[in-house]
Amino acid sequence: MPELLGDESGPVLAVYAHPDDPDVSCGGTLARWARAGAEVHVLICTDGDKGTTDPGVDPGELARRRAVEAAEAAAVLGLTGQHFLGYPDGELEDDSALRAALVGWVRTLRPRVVLGPDPTAVFFGEDYFNHRDHRVIGFALLDALSPAASLPHYFPDAGPAHQPETALLSGTLEPTVWVDVTDTIDDKAAAVSCHRSQFADDGEWARRAVCERAQEDGRRAGVAFAEGFRRLRLGG
Ligand SMILES: [Zn+2]
Repeated sequence: MPELLGDESGPVLAVYAHPDDPDVSCGGTLARWARAGAEVHVLICTDGDKGTTDPGVDPGELARRRAVEAAEAAAVLGLTGQHFLGYPDGELEDDSALRAALVGWVRTLRPRVVLGPDPTAVFFGEDYFNHRDHRVIGFALLDALSPAASLPHYFPDAGPAHQPETALLSGTLEPTVWVDVTDTIDDKAAAVSCHRSQFADDGEWARRAVCERAQEDGRRAGVAFAEGFRRLRLGG
């Protein structure tokens, strides 16, 4: 039987590379847990300033536009907080500075559950391989969560040690748990469609893709709409 996770009391922290990633990856889950009363935070690591095919777009202007879109999406999902590391798009490096920043946010917000991308998911059929920033932040986050955040001698200036109980990795090829997002699939679709800079059309295609993907996961989980994750138990 597929395991379905219930409501989460929080705090929850979702860590992703680009402004639209949290909404696309786990927006239904974040909205559901926010509705249930959990404190839900999102940390976006780059400013998304290269996310366009148009050479005439000014990267700084695009980054400002994407921050506005992300703020709109956060309001749709009912997030408690949305935070930015401000790295240039495509230039995340899994180095000590990035891990220190992640550890700092984990120790400040002290989440029970942390969500992020599964960095081991590289090839999705013949049409897509995972973005470098997604892979980099996925591995950096895992190393930041365990052992770094939980041991005081790692990054001693980043606050008192904290061990989140669970990591949930989205965009995984090997989901082990699911969240029923039937009640929040509309919020997820609405949040994704806030990222207007990322669509050639009015976002209708993206809304449809979001629903189809969640339906597919729903079939595996035995509900109408779901989001699937690889779960890691980190202790507590
Ligand atoms: Zn992305």
